[in-house]
Amino acid sequence: MSDVLILGGGIAGLGAAHAARRHGITSLVLEAGSRPGGLLDSFSVEGFRFDNAVHLSFANEPEVREIFDRTPYLEHEAASLCWDDGYWLRHPVQNNLFPLPVEEKVALIEGLARQEQGEIRNYRDWLVQQYGTPIAARWPLIYTRKYWTIPAEEMGTGWIGPRMRQAALNEVLLGAMAERAPNTYYVSVMRYPKKGGYRAFIEPLIEAAEIRCGAHVVSVDQLGRRVRLADGEELPFRLLVSTMPLPSLVAMMRDVPEEIRADAASLFATRVDLISIALRRPEVSPSLWFYIYDQDVLAARVYSPSWKSPDNAPPGCCSLQWEIYSSCRRPLQASVAEMTENCLAAMERMGLAARSDVIFTHHKQLPFGNVVFDLGMEERRDRVRAWVEAQGIGVAGRFGEWAYLWSNQSFMSGCAAVDRLHAASG
Ligand SMILES: Cc1cc2nc3c(=O)[nH]c(=O)nc-3n(C[C@H](O)[C@H](O)[C@H](O)COP(=O)(O)OP(=O)(O)OC[C@H]3O[C@@H](n4cnc5c(N)ncnc54)[C@H](O)[C@@H]3O)c2cc1C
Repeated sequence: MSDVLILGGGIAGLGAAHAARRHGITSLVLEAGSRPGGLLDSFSVEGFRFDNAVHLSFANEPEVREIFDRTPYLEHEAASLCWDDGYWLRHPVQNNLFPLPVEEKVALIEGLARQEQGEIRNYRDWLVQQYGTPIAARWPLIYTRKYWTIPAEEMGTGWIGPRMRQAALNEVLLGAMAERAPNTYYVSVMRYPKKGGYRAFIEPLIEAAEIRCGAHVVSVDQLGRRVRLADGEELPFRLLVSTMPLPSLVAMMRDVPEEIRADAASLFATRVDLISIALRRPEVSPSLWFYIYDQDVLAARVYSPSWKSPDNAPPGCCSLQWEIYSSCRRPLQASVAEMTENCLAAMERMGLAARSDVIFTHHKQLPFGNVVFDLGMEERRDRVRAWVEAQGIGVAGRFGEWAYLWSNQSFMSGCAAVDRLHAASG
């Protein structure tokens, strides 16, 4: 029996295995999929490589950089655009109003200047008080529905951190009058492997870990200290770290108090449908990634795999991947054929490429994308997490912790879970 059993072979599980090695103890990673990597895996179709949605690294933790930097990488400026009703605006839109008609800019900025401040009860209040009603209504309130799948008044604000640029009147005025306002994105440089897709960054972790793929965990007996796999095999454990989605873990555990079961069942995440398009043309994307505000375009965001690295497409070709978000609160209404058609029509309308340029289209769904911060989610999640940890089980990663973690943070989360269990076990 290994010292630590780890459920899930994404970067959090691989981080947990890394920490176990650091402590000089053994570990076994159980991964349901046919190969490790989780969300950081990449896939290839007809000579084109795609990641599972936009993935770029802005890790700054020395422990992460020590591993990621073993893979030769490209550096990209973190600059993106926004498509809105026929306009390309630089991101963040409120700081880059320059291309809009003068009357519109005046109305938008007047709204910001006159905005009164008050109690912030939800994300809608935050957006309106940050940007003023006209800017909030024109962009982020719409984007919230597309990306988070629920209205902003139903969301909390604990997740925002540096992710949303706060509006400063002088920045907004400058960006309305001058074409090249300074880039205010919250990270300056983004890294991406020269070859092999984003997954290449985690190959050293995969090579060093003991991993069993095709090991789908179906039950976790925290009292008898054993997990059962879909094929009926049972594996005992002494220390256990789960990076599986927290609600899925709780549903598999024994003797769960009713209120914890209810709290866990109330947690939900977005799903992401990825429409990947291969094109027989050199790069067509106007930026590394861009946001789409038009409500009749299903995708919220698009990125260019071939811009991330030319290694992702054959010579003379390029690619785009479109991200369409849904959830139990806003189920997907479109079929794969309809989603694909919607992306192709948008691609043509934006002037990026013609249908005759398309080599193939490809669809894939990620069942877990972003955990959704609906009002009160953090309190419910914390109660669930505290109960699971009181059973002597460590939780880690974006879905194990049920938090908005980037890949580097998911890695650190996996390490920290093993550090805690190891310290507690003496
Ligand atoms: C749209 C999108 C864009 C992103 N962009 C970036 C970015 O640009 N930069 C960045 O740093 N991060 C980005 N991230 C975040 C990053 O993907 C995550 O932080 C990270 O991949 C999470 O790793 P994880 O190991 O916690 O989860 P996962 O990668 O989901 O791994 C969990 C693993 O558990 C396995 N599993 C689940 N259930 C079972 C079971 N019952 N039995 C056995 N195994 C099971 C799954 O198969 C999976 O392999 C993005 C995420 C999304 C969704």
